[in-house]
Amino acid sequence: MKIIADIHTHTVLSGHAYSTVLENARGARENGLEIMAITDHGPAMPGASSAFYHFPNQVVIPDTVDGIEILRGTEANILDDEGTLDLPDRVLRDLDIVLAGLHDVCISQGDREQNTRRLIRVMDSGRVDVITHPGNPYFPVHVDRVVEAAARTGVLLEINNTSLRGDVRPGSDIICLEIARTVLEAGLPVVLGSDAHWYQDVGRLDRALALARNAGFSRERILNCSARGLRTFVKDCKRRRFERLHGS
Ligand SMILES: [Zn+2]
Ligand SMILES: [Zn+2]
Repeated sequence: MKIIADIHTHTVLSGHAYSTVLENARGARENGLEIMAITDHGPAMPGASSAFYHFPNQVVIPDTVDGIEILRGTEANILDDEGTLDLPDRVLRDLDIVLAGLHDVCISQGDREQNTRRLIRVMDSGRVDVITHPGNPYFPVHVDRVVEAAARTGVLLEINNTSLRGDVRPGSDIICLEIARTVLEAGLPVVLGSDAHWYQDVGRLDRALALARNAGFSRERILNCSARGLRTFVKDCKRRRFERLHGS
């Protein structure tokens, strides 16, 4: 089952990652990818770039870097119970891909009810395409309700490879498996992200892929296995997001 895309990678502009776009593209190529999304943390993450033009100015990055097709994106921070994000709509609407997630330095821990509401509000806002690391035990959620919202809104839930390596977000494996099984039962596709903060980790999706396979996913339902499937997803999301946020 060949992985050809990574939708979640960070560069030095995230403040606590250590490689450049060019280095990440090299890592992507060495790991056999065709497509890589650049998804630096939004400005509420301490140390991340708060330069106003950082995200929109990704248009200067060529469509292909070192043979790798580039998607210009972000991993925005969810800031409150209403699902407010840390980038304005006029920036979000033009990106190729918008990820969003809960990070402990940007929002309180919250209880299961609160976190479920946060994710559902974000998904219903029309601003995001993928929720990152929803299986983080630090931010417990009602899995069935989150998956129901994903089905309703077309937002995908990520299986995050870094969460499964054991050094961050410990205990994610059990919840990730529950999420993956529920997503499969709902008939939805799944997407895998490396969450790379170092170039050699771009495209490293071994653990996330094993978990998806264990949950019962076939190649056709894993978005990272099809360049055409991923391009269609990105195009549809981008159009929907632009229409929703147009005029902002
Ligand atoms: Zn990070
Ligand atoms: Zn994250």
